[in-house]
Amino acid sequence: MSERLIFETGQPGRANTYFPNGRTADEFLPASALRDALPLPDNSELDVVRHFTRLSQKTFAIDTGFYPLGSCTMKYNPRVNEAMASQPGFKDLHPYAPDPLAQGALRVMYELERSLSAIFGMSAFSLNPAAGAHAELTALLIAKAYFAKIGQGASRTTVIVPDTAHGTNPASAAMVGYKVISLPSDARGRVGLEELKAAIGDDTAVCMMTNPNTLGLFEDHIHEIAEAVHAVGGLMYYDGANANALMGNARPGDMGFDLMHLNLHKTFSIPHGGGGAGHGPVGVAERLVPFLPVPIVTLDESGAYHLEHEREDAIGTMRSFWSNFSHAVRALTYIYANGGEGLTRVSQLAVLNANYVRARVKEFLPTPYDETCRHEFVATAQELKRETGVRALDIAKALLDRGYHAPTVYFPLLVPECLMIEPTETESKETLDGFIAALRDVVETAKRDPQAILDAPVHTVVGRIDETRAARHPDLRWVG
Ligand SMILES: *Cc1c(COP(=O)(O)O)cnc(C)c1O
Repeated sequence: MSERLIFETGQPGRANTYFPNGRTADEFLPASALRDALPLPDNSELDVVRHFTRLSQKTFAIDTGFYPLGSCTMKYNPRVNEAMASQPGFKDLHPYAPDPLAQGALRVMYELERSLSAIFGMSAFSLNPAAGAHAELTALLIAKAYFAKIGQGASRTTVIVPDTAHGTNPASAAMVGYKVISLPSDARGRVGLEELKAAIGDDTAVCMMTNPNTLGLFEDHIHEIAEAVHAVGGLMYYDGANANALMGNARPGDMGFDLMHLNLHKTFSIPHGGGGAGHGPVGVAERLVPFLPVPIVTLDESGAYHLEHEREDAIGTMRSFWSNFSHAVRALTYIYANGGEGLTRVSQLAVLNANYVRARVKEFLPTPYDETCRHEFVATAQELKRETGVRALDIAKALLDRGYHAPTVYFPLLVPECLMIEPTETESKETLDGFIAALRDVVETAKRDPQAILDAPVHTVVGRIDETRAARHPDLRWVG
């Protein structure tokens, strides 16, 4: 049964009695803040709780099932993170609290910043940006400010982006006003050094790379690539949205990257999806530190923490207050709970799980880049589509019927009918085996009875929906 909107339920006077004993809002609020007709739904607390609980039961979540969404890293959110983020000293702290009254919170941000710098080999991080794409924008604004400062603002006009990159990379570069040059991958699914050298020059501002790339492959010529870009005066940018193969094993700073971002809401186990808040710290090499956005947390000799709001070359502020501070608490909890060795093990297990699933999946779906992968891998349904008419999208829908969230499909773009699978480190062998069996069942059913897969899903709350309408024609207003 479909759930009615909260606006369609309840009735006037059921719960909207904000002021007791017949008192009215104008006793408390200035006239300018009063509204006559504010069409808020009027439901009892119990009905509201039931409404949202029912909605939560109709959706798919990492807490209810396996969620192998490549690149997006849907990993388990340890409950200790939530316990820490709900400590009253963090949760109830006012964002305008003066520094002396916010020492614990400032220390969290300071220690998170120091930890990320150490884990990824950067000089400093800004905790300002609210998510991955926002962080890319921040980093490119830093690059732009840097080139302006050294007198090359007008001549550095292009950004190089490999064709395996996340779509946000070219979009961010274009937003900052750069011309985007797309770099085709070679037969091994990596950036070709010769193609790169042909694309770069005096006009190169930034080369944006993801490593391991979104095919799950490590760019093994990364040092030569960084050297070539640096030789023409360009900057190397690392898209570390998904750093799940990297922690404790390799550092972007050591690979020659000057700028990077992380998605704490992926690698560092913060709940995300459904448009929830993210957190996307940006890290920089020494010469770019002056351009980081403010505020920045500093520690003085007496052991006191401060928020520094003024820095001459800072690009400004990318996010109000302290950005998504509760996520900083969650990420630091995750780092301290695991420790250095634990984070290294996280990466190793993520890689092991991905390779286990890859080795079994390739028995029934081709994996176009057939080598040991990192934290994720891609398979293709191109052959299956040719034989049966069943596409990657149909496989995704049929998996939902079998109790699994779909992998990422149709990304990266260079693999036709692509399924991009990332199991993450926390899943048991039984869960992985269950998923592999379900995927095998979908492929075998497609060969025997393609219509059964084309009709999927039949066991979910809604069936096939228009994949793009909500994005192209957003209709966010409720009209009663
Ligand atoms: C998720 C992701 C992004 C974008 O991050 P958002 O937080 O969704 O804006 C960028 N690059 C890669 C490789 C990603 O996986």
